[in-house]
Amino acid sequence: MKVVGHQIHRYRRWFGALACSQATRLAAGAGVHLQLQASCGRRGFGDAAPWPGFGSGSSLKTITAQLEAAAEQLHGQELSEVMEIDDAVGELKLPSEGRHALELALLDLLAQEQERPLHELLGDGNRERIPVHRLIHDEEDAQRAAAAGASCVKLKLGASSLSEDLDRVRRIRRRVPAKLRLRIDVNGRWDLATAQEAERRLRPYAVEWLEQPLSNGDLGQLARFRSGSQIPIAVDECVRRLSDVDCIAAQQAADVVVIKPMFVGGLMAARAIYWRARDRKLRAIITHSLESCVGQAAAIQLAASLAGSLEVCGLAPHPPNAGSRATGAFVTVPRCAGLGAIPERPSGSPAKRERYTL
Ligand SMILES: [Mg+2]
Repeated sequence: MKVVGHQIHRYRRWFGALACSQATRLAAGAGVHLQLQASCGRRGFGDAAPWPGFGSGSSLKTITAQLEAAAEQLHGQELSEVMEIDDAVGELKLPSEGRHALELALLDLLAQEQERPLHELLGDGNRERIPVHRLIHDEEDAQRAAAAGASCVKLKLGASSLSEDLDRVRRIRRRVPAKLRLRIDVNGRWDLATAQEAERRLRPYAVEWLEQPLSNGDLGQLARFRSGSQIPIAVDECVRRLSDVDCIAAQQAADVVVIKPMFVGGLMAARAIYWRARDRKLRAIITHSLESCVGQAAAIQLAASLAGSLEVCGLAPHPPNAGSRATGAFVTVPRCAGLGAIPERPSGSPAKRERYTL
């Protein structure tokens, strides 16, 4: 497979009912699609979409400029094995989101050339569907998810006062079957005292885990909090590289590692982190990063490549009604050759198209 050209297109991210600040909406409002052309005429797609507090911390402008230069350097290169792609992308020293995009577009091309679904390039797992949780905001969402067959839901807390958050959890638990699993994600919004009070008051509500209850960096503090917690602890924002898993395990700072391929530098790095976590006796799940259908499909391909038992992952489509891959508690893995996702260019006014293209 020889790369002969590339294009980069900007896309706008869909936020829906996500509770996030105006600053986050501005910083994370867009991502870019990378399209690589191979000499055979095939096109492979990648996705780079930063989010404050996650990944490299680079702006989309910086990521795009570095991705542009890196893609240019690949022109004329012959890449016919996964390890050659890993080496070639590694040498280009990209921020994690840029590396994710470039590696993904190359893997998409290679899988198409070999006429296999992308997950077959990555590992022995060959799943047809992936168990997923549903993101909910209130009791109506929770009821809808349960009625649609969901087995697990995830609720974001920490943007409101603790008493408002606890009221919401109480209302949700009252309206859904007891067997519906409830995960709570705080995105590092609580201080230690608030987290301790919240954990104690959440105990009656069968919470499966508390994700990133405290701010990002201090694993020692998280370990102290966990030692007094009856609810298991998950980490997300503080998982960026392989060595983070070693530190989390050594300090006994968490029970569960949440892995986002976009923010750890691509599918292969995410796979390595997953297996390192499992080796360290940590639970691990794969989630997407609310990026476009391209990045979301990549995370599904990664989960499909993982052999053995698999936890319920964060791979339900976003927006919730996007595509037809989701039914009840599962998403279906694309079986076609390659990634199985192509970015949609918006139709409509020239102004809209201009915003889409850098
Ligand atoms: Mg999270």
